[in-house]
Amino acid sequence: MFDKLTRTFSDVLRQVSGKSSISEKNIQDAVEEIKIALLEADVNLRVVRRFVNHTIEEARGEKVLRSVNPGQQFIKIVHDRMVNLLGSETEGLQLKGPDTLSPILFMGLQGSGKTTTCAKLALRLKKEGRKPLLVAADLVRPAAVKQLQLLGEQTGVPVFAVEGEKKPVKVVKQALSFAKKNSFNTMIVDTSGRMHLDDDLMKEIQEINSVLKPVEGLLVADAMTGQQAVEIAKEFNERVGITGVILSKFDSDTRGGAALSLKSVTKKPIKYVGVGEKIDELEQFHPDRMASRILG
Ligand code: GDP
Repeated sequence: MFDKLTRTFSDVLRQVSGKSSISEKNIQDAVEEIKIALLEADVNLRVVRRFVNHTIEEARGEKVLRSVNPGQQFIKIVHDRMVNLLGSETEGLQLKGPDTLSPILFMGLQGSGKTTTCAKLALRLKKEGRKPLLVAADLVRPAAVKQLQLLGEQTGVPVFAVEGEKKPVKVVKQALSFAKKNSFNTMIVDTSGRMHLDDDLMKEIQEINSVLKPVEGLLVADAMTGQQAVEIAKEFNERVGITGVILSKFDSDTRGGAALSLKSVTKKPIKYVGVGEKIDELEQFHPDRMASRILG
């Protein structure tokens, strides 16, 4: 996904890496090229400005200009800035111990990959030794309940659904007592999306959120939608509150701007990325590894 960005970064960094001395002009030129590459990758303008200003500020310091190996120093600054942009630490889920129920709320727009990702995460947690229950509370998209049930069969994770129920919050209440009674320790709730953000959707998710009291509120955002994904995450965070983002369709041919802007704009970490349609194609997100990959 970051092919073009990686090409620019490697070119720029290769040019400075061999230099025995670096001038202010060299720094300016390198940073200008990085700036253009980030903007072309659809990174949020304010995020790019901050990245560029910090990089210049640090690179102007004594350490780089007077260093015996200024090129390497400069590369380290850019690498650290990139890790920082992507979120610094790998952030896993904050689940309770195995004897207490940990509810997880999924939210996002229709088509973002919510239902698929619920099942992917359930499978992952099952493999990690937890006892997950999937809850079908997307009652808007006609096929969503059936889809989750099929995914449940594929993954061997039970699915809680209430035939004929129209109110998702009622499904969630019943699911909570079912999960407790049957000793499930993780409950993954799929909710409905809409084509666009609207008040109706937000109210529905807020209501579910207050009943469920989730330990994790995860927004599934489609990486292909670039800056729109960032805006959606911001909106859900302000109106419902999220603990992290799962960026789906990370395998697609996008410019990567969403991944690079999300943390800075929302202050919430990317926790996982969806890397394919198959049920096991969900990976934990590691900012440092991703930064190294981007810088080539
Ligand atoms: P929902 O409306 O948010 O529940 O979305 P779905 O779970 O039905 O997913 C919408 C489409 O995106 C489906 O065709 C999924 O197979 C596809 N999808 C979901 N996650 C990924 C991913 O990580 N990579 C790719 N390539 N496709 C994905």
